[in-house]
Amino acid sequence: MGSIAHNLQAVKSRIAAAERAAGRAPGAVTLLAVSKTHAPGLVRQAVDAGQRAFGESYVQEALDKMAQLAGLPLEWHLVGPLQSNKTRAVAERFDWVHAVDREKIARRLAAQRPADMAPLNVLVQVNASGEASKGGVAPAQAAALAAAVAAMDRLRLRGLMAIPEPGAPQSRWREIGELFRRLQREFGFDTLSLGMSDDMEAAIAEGSTLVRVGTAIFGARHRVKDAA
Ligand SMILES: *Cc1c(COP(=O)(O)O)cnc(C)c1O
Repeated sequence: MGSIAHNLQAVKSRIAAAERAAGRAPGAVTLLAVSKTHAPGLVRQAVDAGQRAFGESYVQEALDKMAQLAGLPLEWHLVGPLQSNKTRAVAERFDWVHAVDREKIARRLAAQRPADMAPLNVLVQVNASGEASKGGVAPAQAAALAAAVAAMDRLRLRGLMAIPEPGAPQSRWREIGELFRRLQREFGFDTLSLGMSDDMEAAIAEGSTLVRVGTAIFGARHRVKDAA
């Protein structure tokens, strides 16, 4: 792997090429740098290279990292699964939550989001059949959960998130893109969080507006932690 700055530039070039190949506008796709398991010093290198939005999977690790990077104008996204005993810390510290798949979790986040903060940005995680992640609602249930989130005061429904299994056929990506566009007409949201280091091109071809990229920026992850 090269330097973080070099890797970021290479990822941005891939995104730009995929936007062009799909006939999409330059800048249509946002890059979220997934920094889970990587030290704050590496995040700082990415910040120095102009990156502002970071994704984490483990709440306690993220809180430690935020404390070490306090004062920087960063946007924090929780991309991993969220258990109900962790919702308060997430509501108080994060800007976005990607993997909401239960109304109960959404209700807790809404109740715990401090009144003096902007509404918490929420994505409903969808699990099309065969997805790598066990999380997510079935596509047929996505509209109902989206409607519930949209009605909650301290939350802002921004769209959908999905994690197709490695090597998923293009038809799976298309199914997710089509669900996004259908619900987008109903709810007026703007974000499809879809695509990672190895599959961002397939995601961008089907309408992803945000790719979650870890390995291609920070290198391989060495620590494996329990989801928390
Ligand atoms: C770790 C993680 C990523 C980043 O995956 P890479 O293959 O390293 O780019 C993206 N999304 C989620 C939900 C993750 O947990």
